[in-house]
Amino acid sequence: MVEFLRETVVVDNLHLRKIREGKTEIFVPDPFYYVKKKNEYMPTSLPVFYNPVMEVNRDLSLLAIKAYMDLYWQPKKEDERILYIEALAGTGIRGFRVLNEIKNPKVKVLLNDINKLSIKIMKFNASYLKIESDLTITNYDANYLFLRLRNTGMIPDIIEIDPYGSPARFIFNAVRCIKGKGGLLLVTATDTAPLVGKFIEAAMRKYGCFLVKSPFSKEMAVRALIYFIGREASILARRIVPLFAIFSHHFIKLALLVLRGRKEADKFWKEIGWVSFCNICTQFYFSKGLQNRPRELCEMEEHGLTEIIGPLWLGRIFEEEFSREMLKKIDELSVNPRNAKLIKRIFEWELEAIDIPFFYDLQEIARRLRMSIPSINSVINSLKSKGYKASRTHFNPRGIKTNAKVRDIVILLKHMVNQ
Ligand SMILES: [Zn+2]
Repeated sequence: MVEFLRETVVVDNLHLRKIREGKTEIFVPDPFYYVKKKNEYMPTSLPVFYNPVMEVNRDLSLLAIKAYMDLYWQPKKEDERILYIEALAGTGIRGFRVLNEIKNPKVKVLLNDINKLSIKIMKFNASYLKIESDLTITNYDANYLFLRLRNTGMIPDIIEIDPYGSPARFIFNAVRCIKGKGGLLLVTATDTAPLVGKFIEAAMRKYGCFLVKSPFSKEMAVRALIYFIGREASILARRIVPLFAIFSHHFIKLALLVLRGRKEADKFWKEIGWVSFCNICTQFYFSKGLQNRPRELCEMEEHGLTEIIGPLWLGRIFEEEFSREMLKKIDELSVNPRNAKLIKRIFEWELEAIDIPFFYDLQEIARRLRMSIPSINSVINSLKSKGYKASRTHFNPRGIKTNAKVRDIVILLKHMVNQ
Protein backbone atom coordinates (compact mmCIF):
# COMPACT_ATOMS: atom_id res chain seq x y z
CA MET A 1 0.00 0.00 0.00
CA VAL A 2 1.47 3.34 -1.07
CA GLU A 3 1.94 5.86 1.74
CA PHE A 4 1.72 9.61 1.17
CA LEU A 5 4.20 11.16 3.61
CA ARG A 6 4.28 14.62 5.17
CA GLU A 7 7.32 16.01 3.39
CA THR A 8 6.60 18.36 0.47
CA VAL A 9 8.83 20.39 -1.82
CA VAL A 10 8.39 22.86 -4.70
CA VAL A 11 10.68 22.31 -7.71
CA ASP A 12 10.32 24.77 -10.64
CA ASN A 13 6.72 25.47 -9.65
CA LEU A 14 5.95 21.75 -9.35
CA HIS A 15 4.40 20.87 -6.00
CA LEU A 16 5.74 17.50 -4.95
CA ARG A 17 5.05 15.20 -2.03
CA LYS A 18 7.13 12.33 -0.77
CA ILE A 19 5.60 8.87 -1.02
CA ARG A 20 6.71 5.39 -0.05
CA GLU A 21 5.97 2.71 -2.63
CA GLY A 22 7.44 -0.74 -2.10
CA LYS A 23 10.61 0.06 -0.17
CA THR A 24 11.37 3.22 -2.15
CA GLU A 25 10.70 6.83 -1.22
CA ILE A 26 10.45 9.38 -4.04
CA PHE A 27 8.63 12.63 -4.76
CA VAL A 28 5.52 12.70 -6.97
CA PRO A 29 3.08 15.53 -7.85
CA ASP A 30 1.16 16.30 -4.67
CA PRO A 31 -2.48 15.17 -5.01
CA PHE A 32 -3.41 17.29 -1.97
CA TYR A 33 -2.33 20.33 -4.01
CA TYR A 34 -3.46 19.38 -7.54
CA VAL A 35 -6.72 17.48 -7.05
CA LYS A 36 -9.34 20.15 -6.44
CA LYS A 37 -12.65 18.30 -6.72
CA LYS A 38 -13.78 15.22 -4.85
CA ASN A 39 -14.80 13.21 -7.92
CA GLU A 40 -11.69 14.00 -9.99
CA TYR A 41 -9.63 11.03 -11.20
CA MET A 42 -6.43 11.60 -9.28
CA PRO A 43 -3.73 10.17 -11.63
CA THR A 44 -4.74 12.29 -14.64
CA SER A 45 -5.32 15.47 -12.60
CA LEU A 46 -1.61 15.58 -11.78
CA PRO A 47 0.86 17.38 -14.07
CA VAL A 48 2.72 14.05 -14.34
CA PHE A 49 0.73 10.81 -14.18
CA TYR A 50 1.04 8.78 -10.98
CA ASN A 51 -1.38 6.05 -9.94
CA PRO A 52 -0.76 4.49 -6.50
CA VAL A 53 -3.17 1.64 -7.31
CA MET A 54 -0.64 0.41 -9.88
CA GLU A 55 1.88 -0.44 -7.15
CA VAL A 56 0.99 -4.10 -7.67
CA ASN A 57 1.71 -3.78 -11.41
CA ARG A 58 5.14 -2.39 -10.57
CA ASP A 59 5.69 -5.17 -8.01
CA LEU A 60 5.04 -7.62 -10.86
CA SER A 61 7.69 -5.86 -12.98
CA LEU A 62 10.31 -6.13 -10.26
CA LEU A 63 9.53 -9.81 -9.69
CA ALA A 64 9.64 -10.48 -13.44
CA ILE A 65 13.01 -8.73 -13.84
CA LYS A 66 14.49 -10.79 -11.02
CA ALA A 67 13.03 -14.04 -12.36
CA TYR A 68 14.23 -13.20 -15.88
CA MET A 69 17.77 -12.49 -14.70
CA ASP A 70 17.96 -15.86 -12.98
CA LEU A 71 16.33 -17.93 -15.70
CA TYR A 72 17.03 -16.35 -19.08
CA TRP A 73 19.76 -13.73 -18.96
CA GLN A 74 23.05 -15.11 -20.24
CA PRO A 75 25.79 -12.46 -20.33
CA LYS A 76 28.56 -13.22 -22.82
CA LYS A 77 31.18 -11.25 -20.91
CA GLU A 78 31.77 -10.99 -17.18
CA ASP A 79 31.29 -7.22 -17.10
CA GLU A 80 28.12 -7.27 -19.24
CA ARG A 81 25.18 -5.44 -17.68
CA ILE A 82 21.46 -5.73 -18.21
CA LEU A 83 19.64 -2.73 -19.68
CA TYR A 84 16.06 -2.07 -18.53
CA ILE A 85 14.10 0.62 -20.34
CA GLU A 86 10.87 2.19 -19.24
CA ALA A 87 9.67 4.08 -22.30
CA LEU A 88 6.76 5.99 -20.71
CA ALA A 89 8.18 6.50 -17.26
CA GLY A 90 6.04 9.32 -15.75
CA THR A 91 7.51 9.99 -12.30
CA GLY A 92 10.07 7.23 -12.86
CA ILE A 93 8.84 5.37 -9.79
CA ARG A 94 9.26 1.93 -11.35
CA GLY A 95 12.80 2.55 -12.56
CA PHE A 96 13.81 3.96 -9.19
CA ARG A 97 12.31 0.92 -7.52
CA VAL A 98 14.24 -1.36 -9.90
CA LEU A 99 17.51 0.30 -8.87
CA ASN A 100 16.65 0.68 -5.19
CA GLU A 101 14.95 -2.65 -4.49
CA ILE A 102 16.55 -5.14 -6.88
CA LYS A 103 19.90 -3.68 -5.85
CA ASN A 104 21.91 -5.54 -8.44
CA PRO A 105 24.99 -3.71 -9.77
CA LYS A 106 24.47 -5.54 -13.08
CA VAL A 107 21.27 -3.55 -13.75
CA LYS A 108 21.27 -0.30 -15.74
CA VAL A 109 18.07 1.71 -16.17
CA LEU A 110 16.94 4.12 -18.87
CA LEU A 111 13.85 6.18 -18.07
CA ASN A 112 12.15 8.06 -20.87
CA ASP A 113 9.14 10.32 -21.10
CA ILE A 114 7.91 12.81 -23.67
CA ASN A 115 6.64 15.16 -20.93
CA LYS A 116 9.24 17.78 -19.90
CA LEU A 117 7.74 18.01 -16.40
CA SER A 118 8.26 14.29 -16.00
CA ILE A 119 11.96 14.77 -16.78
CA LYS A 120 12.20 17.47 -14.09
CA ILE A 121 10.64 15.17 -11.49
CA MET A 122 12.84 12.22 -12.47
CA LYS A 123 16.01 14.32 -12.30
CA PHE A 124 14.99 15.68 -8.92
CA ASN A 125 14.35 12.15 -7.63
CA ALA A 126 17.62 10.83 -9.07
CA SER A 127 19.57 13.47 -7.15
CA TYR A 128 17.44 12.91 -4.03
CA LEU A 129 18.22 9.17 -4.16
CA LYS A 130 21.85 9.90 -5.12
CA ILE A 131 21.58 7.70 -8.21
CA GLU A 132 24.01 8.65 -10.97
CA SER A 133 25.96 6.16 -13.03
CA ASP A 134 23.28 3.44 -13.31
CA LEU A 135 20.58 5.72 -14.67
CA THR A 136 19.97 7.56 -17.96
CA ILE A 137 16.99 9.91 -18.37
CA THR A 138 15.76 10.87 -21.86
CA ASN A 139 13.00 13.12 -23.19
CA TYR A 140 11.74 11.57 -26.45
CA ASP A 141 8.58 10.21 -27.94
CA ALA A 142 8.76 6.50 -27.04
CA ASN A 143 8.78 5.34 -30.68
CA TYR A 144 11.54 7.79 -31.51
CA LEU A 145 13.54 6.49 -28.55
CA PHE A 146 13.25 2.90 -29.81
CA LEU A 147 14.40 3.83 -33.33
CA ARG A 148 17.22 5.97 -31.95
CA LEU A 149 18.45 3.11 -29.77
CA ARG A 150 18.70 0.90 -32.85
CA ASN A 151 21.02 3.45 -34.44
CA THR A 152 23.18 3.93 -31.35
CA GLY A 153 23.71 0.18 -30.94
CA MET A 154 22.31 0.15 -27.39
CA ILE A 155 20.29 -3.06 -27.17
CA PRO A 156 17.80 -3.22 -24.32
CA ASP A 157 17.40 -6.59 -22.60
CA ILE A 158 14.09 -5.56 -21.05
CA ILE A 159 11.55 -3.01 -22.29
CA GLU A 160 8.60 -1.90 -20.20
CA ILE A 161 5.61 -0.33 -21.96
CA ASP A 162 2.99 0.96 -19.53
CA PRO A 163 1.10 3.86 -21.10
CA TYR A 164 -2.13 5.42 -19.93
CA GLY A 165 -4.44 3.50 -22.31
CA SER A 166 -3.44 1.27 -25.20
CA PRO A 167 0.14 0.05 -25.72
CA ALA A 168 -0.64 -0.87 -29.35
CA ARG A 169 1.23 1.92 -31.12
CA PHE A 170 4.52 1.28 -29.29
CA ILE A 171 4.84 -2.46 -29.82
CA PHE A 172 6.34 -2.62 -33.33
CA ASN A 173 9.33 -0.39 -32.60
CA ALA A 174 9.87 -1.88 -29.15
CA VAL A 175 10.12 -5.37 -30.65
CA ARG A 176 12.42 -3.95 -33.32
CA CYS A 177 14.99 -2.65 -30.86
CA ILE A 178 14.81 -5.20 -28.00
CA LYS A 179 17.38 -8.00 -27.78
CA GLY A 180 16.24 -10.56 -30.36
CA LYS A 181 17.64 -13.58 -28.61
CA GLY A 182 15.67 -13.73 -25.39
CA GLY A 183 14.69 -10.13 -24.61
CA LEU A 184 11.90 -9.52 -22.10
CA LEU A 185 8.95 -7.36 -23.08
CA LEU A 186 6.69 -6.18 -20.25
CA VAL A 187 3.43 -4.70 -21.52
CA THR A 188 0.51 -3.12 -19.67
CA ALA A 189 -2.84 -2.20 -21.22
CA THR A 190 -5.41 -0.17 -19.31
CA ASP A 191 -7.82 0.33 -22.22
CA THR A 192 -9.60 -2.86 -21.24
CA ALA A 193 -13.07 -1.85 -22.53
CA PRO A 194 -12.43 -2.69 -26.21
CA LEU A 195 -10.46 -5.80 -25.24
CA VAL A 196 -13.31 -7.25 -23.14
CA GLY A 197 -15.66 -6.80 -26.09
CA LYS A 198 -17.45 -3.56 -25.19
CA PHE A 199 -16.40 -1.67 -28.34
CA ILE A 200 -16.19 -3.84 -31.45
CA GLU A 201 -14.78 -1.16 -33.78
CA ALA A 202 -12.13 0.04 -31.30
CA ALA A 203 -10.95 -3.56 -30.81
CA MET A 204 -10.66 -4.05 -34.58
CA ARG A 205 -8.90 -0.71 -35.03
CA LYS A 206 -6.34 -1.17 -32.25
CA TYR A 207 -5.85 -4.92 -32.06
CA GLY A 208 -7.21 -6.42 -35.29
CA CYS A 209 -9.52 -8.80 -33.41
CA PHE A 210 -13.26 -9.29 -33.57
CA LEU A 211 -14.28 -9.27 -29.89
CA VAL A 212 -17.73 -9.31 -28.30
CA LYS A 213 -18.74 -9.67 -24.64
CA SER A 214 -18.45 -13.29 -23.63
CA PRO A 215 -18.66 -15.29 -20.38
CA PHE A 216 -14.83 -15.39 -20.42
CA SER A 217 -14.18 -11.76 -21.44
CA LYS A 218 -11.07 -11.16 -19.32
CA GLU A 219 -9.24 -14.19 -20.66
CA MET A 220 -10.37 -13.26 -24.17
CA ALA A 221 -8.91 -9.75 -23.63
CA VAL A 222 -5.53 -11.13 -22.60
CA ARG A 223 -5.42 -13.57 -25.52
CA ALA A 224 -6.37 -10.83 -28.00
CA LEU A 225 -3.55 -8.60 -26.76
CA ILE A 226 -1.04 -11.46 -27.02
CA TYR A 227 -2.27 -12.15 -30.56
CA PHE A 228 -1.76 -8.50 -31.52
CA ILE A 229 1.76 -8.27 -30.08
CA GLY A 230 2.74 -11.60 -31.61
CA ARG A 231 1.51 -10.49 -35.03
CA GLU A 232 3.56 -7.28 -34.84
CA ALA A 233 6.61 -9.32 -33.80
CA SER A 234 6.00 -11.81 -36.57
CA ILE A 235 6.27 -9.04 -39.22
CA LEU A 236 9.83 -8.56 -37.93
CA ALA A 237 10.53 -12.33 -38.00
CA ARG A 238 10.39 -12.52 -34.23
CA ARG A 239 8.29 -14.65 -31.95
CA ILE A 240 6.91 -13.91 -28.51
CA VAL A 241 6.49 -16.56 -25.83
CA PRO A 242 4.12 -15.62 -22.99
CA LEU A 243 5.70 -16.04 -19.54
CA PHE A 244 2.64 -14.72 -17.72
CA ALA A 245 -0.58 -12.92 -18.66
CA ILE A 246 -2.58 -11.28 -15.88
CA PHE A 247 -5.86 -9.37 -15.75
CA SER A 248 -6.26 -7.56 -12.44
CA HIS A 249 -7.46 -4.16 -11.14
CA HIS A 250 -8.66 -3.08 -14.63
CA PHE A 251 -5.25 -3.64 -16.21
CA ILE A 252 -3.66 -6.36 -18.29
CA LYS A 253 -0.02 -7.15 -17.65
CA LEU A 254 2.02 -9.40 -19.92
CA ALA A 255 5.56 -10.73 -19.66
CA LEU A 256 6.77 -11.94 -23.05
CA LEU A 257 10.04 -13.51 -24.09
CA VAL A 258 11.19 -12.35 -27.54
CA LEU A 259 12.91 -14.83 -29.87
CA ARG A 260 14.40 -14.26 -33.30
CA GLY A 261 14.04 -16.03 -36.65
CA ARG A 262 11.49 -16.77 -39.34
CA LYS A 263 11.01 -20.36 -38.17
CA GLU A 264 10.43 -19.13 -34.64
CA ALA A 265 7.92 -16.56 -35.91
CA ASP A 266 6.04 -19.25 -37.83
CA LYS A 267 5.59 -21.27 -34.63
CA PHE A 268 3.54 -18.41 -33.19
CA TRP A 269 0.84 -18.86 -35.84
CA LYS A 270 0.32 -22.52 -34.92
CA GLU A 271 -1.16 -21.34 -31.62
CA ILE A 272 -3.56 -18.82 -33.16
CA GLY A 273 -7.20 -19.62 -33.70
CA TRP A 274 -10.82 -18.83 -32.98
CA VAL A 275 -13.37 -19.47 -30.27
CA SER A 276 -17.13 -19.58 -30.54
CA PHE A 277 -19.67 -19.67 -27.74
CA CYS A 278 -23.37 -20.21 -27.27
CA ASN A 279 -25.27 -17.32 -25.71
CA ILE A 280 -27.99 -19.67 -24.44
CA CYS A 281 -25.91 -22.23 -22.52
CA THR A 282 -22.36 -20.65 -22.49
CA GLN A 283 -20.77 -23.77 -24.04
CA PHE A 284 -17.65 -22.72 -25.99
CA TYR A 285 -15.73 -24.30 -28.85
CA PHE A 286 -12.23 -23.37 -29.95
CA SER A 287 -10.08 -24.36 -32.89
CA LYS A 288 -6.40 -23.72 -33.49
CA GLY A 289 -5.22 -22.71 -36.96
CA LEU A 290 -6.59 -19.73 -38.88
CA GLN A 291 -8.04 -22.00 -41.57
CA ASN A 292 -10.14 -23.96 -39.07
CA ARG A 293 -13.41 -22.49 -37.91
CA PRO A 294 -14.97 -23.43 -34.57
CA ARG A 295 -18.57 -24.70 -34.42
CA GLU A 296 -21.04 -22.25 -35.85
CA LEU A 297 -23.98 -24.12 -34.33
CA CYS A 298 -24.22 -25.09 -30.64
CA GLU A 299 -24.05 -28.85 -30.02
CA MET A 300 -27.49 -28.44 -28.52
CA GLU A 301 -28.91 -27.53 -31.89
CA GLU A 302 -32.06 -25.86 -30.59
CA HIS A 303 -29.75 -23.12 -29.21
CA GLY A 304 -28.92 -22.01 -32.74
CA LEU A 305 -25.87 -20.08 -33.96
CA THR A 306 -22.80 -19.33 -31.85
CA GLU A 307 -20.84 -16.06 -31.70
CA ILE A 308 -17.35 -16.37 -33.24
CA ILE A 309 -14.41 -14.40 -31.78
CA GLY A 310 -10.84 -14.00 -32.93
CA PRO A 311 -8.17 -14.36 -33.99
CA LEU A 312 -6.77 -15.09 -30.53
CA TRP A 313 -3.67 -16.64 -28.98
CA LEU A 314 -4.74 -20.12 -27.81
CA GLY A 315 -1.40 -21.36 -26.47
CA ARG A 316 -0.12 -21.35 -22.89
CA ILE A 317 -0.17 -18.07 -21.00
CA PHE A 318 1.69 -19.04 -17.80
CA GLU A 319 5.11 -20.61 -18.33
CA GLU A 320 5.61 -23.04 -15.48
CA GLU A 321 9.24 -22.47 -14.52
CA PHE A 322 8.90 -18.70 -14.76
CA SER A 323 5.73 -18.73 -12.64
CA ARG A 324 7.46 -20.78 -9.92
CA GLU A 325 10.37 -18.34 -9.98
CA MET A 326 7.95 -15.38 -9.64
CA LEU A 327 6.51 -17.00 -6.50
CA LYS A 328 9.99 -17.53 -5.06
CA LYS A 329 10.93 -13.89 -5.63
CA ILE A 330 7.96 -12.53 -3.63
CA ASP A 331 9.71 -13.17 -0.31
CA GLU A 332 13.13 -12.09 -1.62
CA LEU A 333 11.70 -8.70 -2.59
CA SER A 334 9.50 -8.55 0.53
CA VAL A 335 6.50 -7.35 -1.45
CA ASN A 336 3.91 -5.75 0.86
CA PRO A 337 1.53 -8.35 2.35
CA ARG A 338 -1.62 -7.28 0.49
CA ASN A 339 0.00 -7.32 -2.95
CA ALA A 340 1.96 -10.47 -2.09
CA LYS A 341 -1.29 -12.28 -1.24
CA LEU A 342 -2.87 -11.25 -4.55
CA ILE A 343 0.17 -12.17 -6.65
CA LYS A 344 0.60 -15.51 -4.86
CA ARG A 345 -3.03 -16.42 -5.48
CA ILE A 346 -2.76 -15.60 -9.19
CA PHE A 347 0.36 -17.70 -9.74
CA GLU A 348 -0.69 -20.58 -7.47
CA TRP A 349 -4.06 -20.91 -9.19
CA GLU A 350 -2.55 -20.64 -12.64
CA LEU A 351 0.18 -23.19 -11.88
CA GLU A 352 -2.58 -25.63 -10.93
CA ALA A 353 -4.83 -24.62 -13.82
CA ILE A 354 -5.45 -27.20 -16.51
CA ASP A 355 -4.06 -26.30 -19.91
CA ILE A 356 -7.31 -25.48 -21.70
CA PRO A 357 -8.09 -21.98 -22.94
CA PHE A 358 -11.22 -20.33 -21.48
CA PHE A 359 -13.57 -21.35 -18.68
CA TYR A 360 -17.20 -21.57 -17.63
CA ASP A 361 -18.68 -18.96 -15.31
CA LEU A 362 -20.48 -20.90 -12.59
CA GLN A 363 -22.68 -17.91 -11.79
CA GLU A 364 -23.88 -17.71 -15.41
CA ILE A 365 -24.73 -21.42 -15.46
CA ALA A 366 -26.50 -21.26 -12.07
CA ARG A 367 -28.45 -18.18 -13.16
CA ARG A 368 -29.72 -20.00 -16.25
CA LEU A 369 -30.83 -22.88 -14.00
CA ARG A 370 -32.45 -20.39 -11.58
CA MET A 371 -30.49 -21.86 -8.70
CA SER A 372 -28.07 -20.37 -6.16
CA ILE A 373 -24.36 -20.92 -6.76
CA PRO A 374 -22.84 -23.82 -4.86
CA SER A 375 -19.29 -23.43 -3.54
CA ILE A 376 -16.90 -23.40 -6.45
CA ASN A 377 -14.43 -25.77 -4.82
CA SER A 378 -17.17 -28.33 -4.21
CA VAL A 379 -18.10 -28.22 -7.92
CA ILE A 380 -14.44 -28.62 -8.91
CA ASN A 381 -14.06 -31.59 -6.55
CA SER A 382 -17.24 -33.21 -7.88
CA LEU A 383 -16.02 -32.79 -11.45
CA LYS A 384 -12.70 -34.38 -10.53
CA SER A 385 -14.42 -37.28 -8.75
CA LYS A 386 -16.34 -37.93 -11.99
CA GLY A 387 -13.02 -38.19 -13.84
CA TYR A 388 -12.94 -34.73 -15.42
CA LYS A 389 -10.07 -32.29 -15.15
CA ALA A 390 -11.07 -29.08 -13.38
CA SER A 391 -9.38 -26.05 -11.85
CA ARG A 392 -9.86 -22.41 -10.92
CA THR A 393 -8.67 -19.39 -12.89
CA HIS A 394 -7.56 -15.93 -11.75
CA PHE A 395 -9.62 -14.42 -14.58
CA ASN A 396 -12.86 -14.96 -12.68
CA PRO A 397 -13.41 -15.96 -9.03
CA ARG A 398 -16.42 -18.03 -10.18
CA GLY A 399 -14.68 -19.45 -13.26
CA ILE A 400 -14.01 -23.16 -13.78
CA LYS A 401 -11.56 -24.50 -16.34
CA THR A 402 -12.55 -28.03 -17.24
CA ASN A 403 -12.70 -30.55 -20.05
CA ALA A 404 -16.32 -31.26 -19.07
CA LYS A 405 -19.11 -29.79 -21.20
CA VAL A 406 -21.71 -27.37 -19.87
CA ARG A 407 -24.33 -30.12 -19.99
CA ASP A 408 -22.13 -32.28 -17.71
CA ILE A 409 -21.83 -29.39 -15.25
CA VAL A 410 -25.61 -28.86 -15.37
CA ILE A 411 -26.27 -32.53 -14.51
CA LEU A 412 -23.76 -32.30 -11.68
CA LEU A 413 -25.26 -29.08 -10.27
CA LYS A 414 -28.78 -30.53 -10.32
CA HIS A 415 -27.48 -33.63 -8.56
CA MET A 416 -25.71 -31.50 -5.92
CA VAL A 417 -28.92 -29.55 -5.23
CA ASN A 418 -30.96 -32.73 -4.81
CA GLN A 419 -28.49 -34.25 -2.35
ZN1 LIG B 1 -25.87 -23.90 -26.38
